[in-house]
Order: sequence, then C-alpha cells, then structure tokens
Amino acid sequence: MTVHIDENLVQDDAGAVNCRHCDAALGVAQQPLRDARVRESDPRTAGPSVRADSGHFADRPVVLRQTFCPGCLTLLQSEIVPGDEPSGRTRSVVAR
Ligand SMILES: [Zn+2]
Repeated sequence: MTVHIDENLVQDDAGAVNCRHCDAALGVAQQPLRDARVRESDPRTAGPSVRADSGHFADRPVVLRQTFCPGCLTLLQSEIVPGDEPSGRTRSVVAR
C-alpha cells in the first residue's frame, strides 16, 4: 500500500520515499529526505518576519536550512536551526 507522508512525499510498500509531484527518489522510511538537496543561507532570507541578526541571540551560527526535491525543486522542508546540528524534524506515516 502506498501512503502519503505529507502533501509532497509518498512512501511505497518497500519503504522508498518519493516526490509526489515528479516521482524523484528522496530517501527511505527512516530518512525520508536523505537524498534531497539542501541549501543553507542567512535566516534573514526567510522573509520580512526574520529581521534580526541571529548573532544577537545565539553564540552559535544559525542558518535557514531549506530542503528541495532534486527533480522538480519543490520546497520540502524549511527550518531555522543551529548550523552545526542536523535536522531534528521527524515525520510519521499515516495510512489513508
Ligand atoms: Zn519532485
């Protein structure tokens, strides 16, 4: 059975995770965005709601980390996080 992880990700019976828009391989159940493309930039590039330099509030570098589908460049995930830490976001599959 194929399950939709969210509006962009689908998981097949074998546990492979693909893009729902272009079917590009993105990862596996345990690491659904393993093969996606990642770009890191200054958090202020997220938009007008992020105005201050993160250096005023944190001793560590803070980045805007965006994850994209390698096939169609759909934005799959966006987070403002310490640049020296991996993503802490998780996903769980809900059968529909
Ligand atoms: Zn795609």
